[in-house]
Amino acid sequence: MGAPATGYKGAGDVAMVEAINITDTCHSRTQLVEALATQNVLLVAIDFDGTISGFSDNPASAVLEPGAREALRIFSELTNTHVVVISGRTVSDLTHKFPALDKVRLIGSHGHEYDSGQNSTLTQAQIDELSSAHEILSRATAKWSGTSVERKSYAVAFHFRSAVPKPLESELQPIRAALSKLGNGIVRDGSMVIEYCAFRTSKGDALQRLRSELYPSKVLMMGDDRTDEDAFRALAPSGISIKVGGAETEALFRVRDVAAAVTLLQDIAARRREWMGMLPALSRIGKSIRP
Ligand SMILES: [Mg+2]
Repeated sequence: MGAPATGYKGAGDVAMVEAINITDTCHSRTQLVEALATQNVLLVAIDFDGTISGFSDNPASAVLEPGAREALRIFSELTNTHVVVISGRTVSDLTHKFPALDKVRLIGSHGHEYDSGQNSTLTQAQIDELSSAHEILSRATAKWSGTSVERKSYAVAFHFRSAVPKPLESELQPIRAALSKLGNGIVRDGSMVIEYCAFRTSKGDALQRLRSELYPSKVLMMGDDRTDEDAFRALAPSGISIKVGGAETEALFRVRDVAAAVTLLQDIAARRREWMGMLPALSRIGKSIRP
């Protein structure tokens, strides 16, 4: 991890894409867009918060960045193109964020909850663990104003983005330690959130499952959070992983913020639509399109 920065540094505007963990090649933004847009079967997997939606003090009020909806719609309506949102949110929550985008697949709970309904039932032990986690995290909310506890399908989350004062790391560590003793679940750190999840499924697991189901010739995964690193690792070495924001990452590329992420998605979607529109004509004149 952490190979020295190399390659294309971009133009310094919102369109910048930086190659960060690549040492053997130099990718330009144009090359990256072209390589993704011209795949026989493309899988586009995207995190929600901090990737195609800005953060909000209230998670419920987070909305899609302008342009993201149209990019996802284009992907979703093209043949041989799959677009999936993989988030820590519940599928029910995500569904409200994507009205009228029926062909965008939604996977919630960090890869555990599928919109296809292939989900798990909690055991009594897991229900008890989540109740205990709720108690621990509710006690934490009493210490800081502006914090909240969210009960999800398979997890309980402590949100402290709006905390006053901000919790110190030394104050958060005992909370994580208490949660880690609850059972067989997993404690996850997100962006200003700590979660106890009853299942250990990761976004990487979800991507592997999608790969075995869809057989994409290339996978793009874009995300900003620590939980997206599981997906980045799952994609190596053949997938394209893109980190949103400046945090340390194992992704191959980085864009600086949500606006840059959405701009890149728009460009890939537009180019793929254009390229796929050319395919029938190319086939008629007998040209080899791409292996
Ligand atoms: Mg995120």
